Amino acid sequence: MFFHAHPDDEALLTAGTMAMLAAEGHRVVLVVATAGERGLAEMAPGEALGETRLKELYESAALLGCARVECLGYGDSGLSPKGGIAEERPDNAFIDADTEAAAKALAAILQEEEADLLAIYDPAGGYGHPDHVQVHRVGKRAAKIAGTEIVLEATVNRDPLVRLLRLAGRFYKFPPEFDVRTFESAYSSSETITHRVNVRKYTRQKRASMAAHASQASGGDSDRTLAVMLKVPRPLYRFVFGTEWYVRRDLPPGTRLTHPFDRWPK
Ligand SMILES: [Zn+2]
Repeated sequence: MFFHAHPDDEALLTAGTMAMLAAEGHRVVLVVATAGERGLAEMAPGEALGETRLKELYESAALLGCARVECLGYGDSGLSPKGGIAEERPDNAFIDADTEAAAKALAAILQEEEADLLAIYDPAGGYGHPDHVQVHRVGKRAAKIAGTEIVLEATVNRDPLVRLLRLAGRFYKFPPEFDVRTFESAYSSSETITHRVNVRKYTRQKRASMAAHASQASGGDSDRTLAVMLKVPRPLYRFVFGTEWYVRRDLPPGTRLTHPFDRWPK
């Protein structure tokens, strides 16, 4: 089971792993906390955008081979203009949710599915979106309640990414709002990562999953990460997005595994 905050997060972080596991015959379930109705898009934020984004999520999930998609139905907490917690939030904003109640809702799906694995985010929530931090808290607790053995924190190895983005910047012009420096303190450094999953065989699906989230690639004026990524030239894309990274906290630091179900010690 893969637990994400908003539709499109699965495309950026875990799509390759999901497609790989589905191809291997695993039952892959995707759960999002919110419909992402306050995402940046050409459409105004609100219910209609939420509906559009859920449709995009189903399309993405189908492309990746998911057997089931669930939305916990919390409100998208949104972001303040500076990228922190937004002052104006919907009543049922995910960050204001009771952690225990949300964890119980997620745990019920884990138990129903008899899930062997739950993928969440690192404690920093990747680049720090408050809903992503909440995914970590709620997901961790849900795995405890359900007794799910393997908990993987989806992340990005920021070391090669920062190097590659710098290199790419020499021959590829990023839009001004795309700031490579924001990656320097986000996600995880190389030494904390326990799983490096080679998903090069599934980059086509990953790209298609990203493209399914059309509302996020077209709109917005400050956060165009997805749009930028879709414009990354194909060979570079394969190189940058050919690996997905995870941290499994119950394994010793320095562990280097290549598959979510790898046993340790091997
Ligand atoms: Zn998100």
